Amino acid sequence: MTGGQIGNVDLVKQLNSAAVYRLIDQQGPISRIKISELSHLAPASVTKITRQLLEHNLIQEVAHQASTGGRRAISLTTQVTQFHSIAVRVGRDYIQLSLHDLSGEILSKSESAIQYSDQEQLIRQLIDKIKLFKASNELIAHNLIAIGVVLPGLVNPDEGEVHYMPHTKIDHLPLGQILSEQFNIGCFVGNDIRAMALAEHYFGATKDSLDSVLISVHRGTGAGIMADGHVFLGSNRNVGEIGHIQVDPLGEQCQCGNFGCLETIAANPAILKGVQARLARGYDSTLADEANITIPIICKHALMGDDLATQSIVRVGVQLGKAIAIVINLFNPQKIVIAGDITQAKEVLFPAIQRNVNSQSLTAFHKDLPIVSSDLEQFPTMGAFAMIKRAMLNGVLLQKLMDSTH
Ligand SMILES: [Zn+2]
Repeated sequence: MTGGQIGNVDLVKQLNSAAVYRLIDQQGPISRIKISELSHLAPASVTKITRQLLEHNLIQEVAHQASTGGRRAISLTTQVTQFHSIAVRVGRDYIQLSLHDLSGEILSKSESAIQYSDQEQLIRQLIDKIKLFKASNELIAHNLIAIGVVLPGLVNPDEGEVHYMPHTKIDHLPLGQILSEQFNIGCFVGNDIRAMALAEHYFGATKDSLDSVLISVHRGTGAGIMADGHVFLGSNRNVGEIGHIQVDPLGEQCQCGNFGCLETIAANPAILKGVQARLARGYDSTLADEANITIPIICKHALMGDDLATQSIVRVGVQLGKAIAIVINLFNPQKIVIAGDITQAKEVLFPAIQRNVNSQSLTAFHKDLPIVSSDLEQFPTMGAFAMIKRAMLNGVLLQKLMDSTH
């Protein structure tokens, strides 16, 4: 989000409005009195803020019979259905777009191929795809409040600036600003894995935890760390590159230049390469009958007891478990979430992870620590939507909507 300095008075206004909206979103239906109690804002302030939220149709009043009988009490809930946003996930060679209302509900989606090797190509295709998607959803496009974009790489989410993407020439790309100006709307840009950790916290597996770590195994391997309900970011805005923890000093060279990184073993391309190499050497496996070997296919054969498929997944589990043990010792999270196609062989993968976690992290830290699979595997754009949701809850986008005239 492009900022600019915001005055103190405006900032206080934004934070107070956000505090009220957040309570209505998370605890609604809720009365004004209860909001005042929980937010420590004066009843008059709550009345004023809720009036403004009502004027912009961001919340609504619902009447219900008070439990004590007598007159009907008025409570507040958020309005979600008429506010739409576009969530975009940019992959190495594909792009996924979805249209959401403010509850997160997916109203429409699309996926197509893209090809880019520098930022000009990326920007051009991103703009074209969003335009096309907007046009195909013409009826709802006039209610558009924001665009969220997630991509693999290093991003400053406050500025919406992309600093690095694998295999792509990037030079301080102000993607948030470019898309904001192009579509005349707020645009939020973030790293795909960090955003997914946020999405799990809002809508998925870690709703019940403030401290959690999402480990994502796709083309690469990375982590998104949630600390006290917020995405944990260092001062240079990026942490969680567990894919480049060295797990095998004599291992293969990684795209980062080092040798034996976790990603050279526990990422989809490495798993596929390993299986194919062993099949080529004549390893006896039911996978030899498959025309097209993919991660879900390997998982299927592992679950049916095939030795090559099973050992391939166990090997990933062992190395993932070692890296996860380090993460557990560092952050002592309340929950670990594993995302990626490989979780389709959960019954084979998770015991291998657990064994290594048990032997290599502190007992007090892993004793009651659930390791679960992602709830949002089928909703890959949810991370991008989570960034929009966050901007509503922290007041950045909410204030924009309250300042607008329509
Ligand atoms: Zn590496």
